[in-house]
Amino acid sequence: MRFALYWDHRSPEGLQRPIQRRIEGILGVKGSLIEPNGLLLTGFDMLRRQYSAPALLTCLEAARRRRGWEDPVLLVVPDDLYAPGEEYVFGLARPERGTAVVSTARLHNHFYGRAPCDDDLMDRVAKEGAHEVGHLLGLEHCDERECVMYAPRSLDELDRKRKMVCPACTALLRGG
Ligand SMILES: [Zn+2]
Ligand SMILES: [Zn+2]
Repeated sequence: MRFALYWDHRSPEGLQRPIQRRIEGILGVKGSLIEPNGLLLTGFDMLRRQYSAPALLTCLEAARRRRGWEDPVLLVVPDDLYAPGEEYVFGLARPERGTAVVSTARLHNHFYGRAPCDDDLMDRVAKEGAHEVGHLLGLEHCDERECVMYAPRSLDELDRKRKMVCPACTALLRGG
């Protein structure tokens, strides 16, 4: 099992390699970086000032098919995301299509009026990224609050998770 990371050129600079490494560490699978090359993103809602996460996944899916990316792909964007019926989402995955997206918009301290901190940002992007890649590798949501596959409903719940998958999810990942 592998995954690929497509880091939008507008996402926080220089973090793609460390985030790839952290996701690899959390899930115990190998990742690779896709060189950003003009992925066309549609689905911006002018009134909400957010992108539709499902629409972004459709764009990513088209690019994946056209460019022949074999591994499931995680896209990281700086734009705030929503999904039908949700005010916002941190990320979204379509496992059957091998595509997932994570937004860094609400993972920055400054979004909440707190002092910026790169370590906080890295931790959150790694956890959210590993969560969505976990879906792409067949994992579902987990009730264990510290597990990366727990579905957080707030930043505090995201921060409470540890950078690990619980033993039950690890066993599923290893096909046990
Ligand atoms: Zn999830
Ligand atoms: Zn778990």
